[in-house]
Amino acid sequence: MHDALAGRPLTRSDFRVPQLATVDLVGRTVLEVVPRGKHLLTRLSGGLTLHTHFRMDGSWHLYAPGERWTGGPQWQVRVVLGNAGRTAVGYRLPVVELLATADEGDAVGHLGPDVLDDAFDEAEALRRLTADPDREVGSALLDQRLLAGLGNLYRCEVLFLRGLTPWLRVGDVADVPALVRAGRRLMRANRGRVEQTTTGSLRRGEDHWVFERAGRPCRRCGARIASAEQTDPLAPAAQAPRLTYWCPHCQPGGAPSVQGPRPPGRTGYGS
Ligand SMILES: [Zn+2]
Repeated sequence: MHDALAGRPLTRSDFRVPQLATVDLVGRTVLEVVPRGKHLLTRLSGGLTLHTHFRMDGSWHLYAPGERWTGGPQWQVRVVLGNAGRTAVGYRLPVVELLATADEGDAVGHLGPDVLDDAFDEAEALRRLTADPDREVGSALLDQRLLAGLGNLYRCEVLFLRGLTPWLRVGDVADVPALVRAGRRLMRANRGRVEQTTTGSLRRGEDHWVFERAGRPCRRCGARIASAEQTDPLAPAAQAPRLTYWCPHCQPGGAPSVQGPRPPGRTGYGS
């Protein structure tokens, strides 16, 4: 987004959300596009910032002039921004708002250190993650106020790779720094592509260890992958419980009394 838009004036501006339907950004120059967790900040000349959030399945797609748009049906388009060379189309974005650049903190100031940030503040992330030792580690990793950017897929996968059950108390995780570093490695390895693999394979069905594999055999030990909703009493009210996937053999320890395979689906997808 930054490479496609920054440094050039907008020649196209089309907001398809009621509260911004009359806004026209044509003529404003995009100064930079900055990610903060699952938020995207598009900074414009004149002190304006377009704030969008992906939540579960929002996305921005970039197209060349004349190229067919393929991100979904037209009614899912929320914003179109473009210059002479590129058109950015925002699909299914649950949050689209314009704010003063000076007020960005209102939108993203609560976020913890961003795992994709080159200047990632590991000490601060560790301080936030370990502040409540009774919190379940699977829930803590999803709390964007502690660590920003890790979605459900990476939360499940990194816990598998570290051999930690999602239900373990944060205070009982032996090496939290190693866990955080592994999460950053996984996300940064996938940052340049649409596909998300944690196994190294891009082949469909081989790209994850446990995520969305409930009831199927663990790739390491053959045990059946379990899944359950992990409710988090400290999560923001808007956040629904998320499906957690894990291997009870490779990730031994605490687990909820009710568990077992659930039908596959996209529920809980949030990376
Ligand atoms: Zn296993």
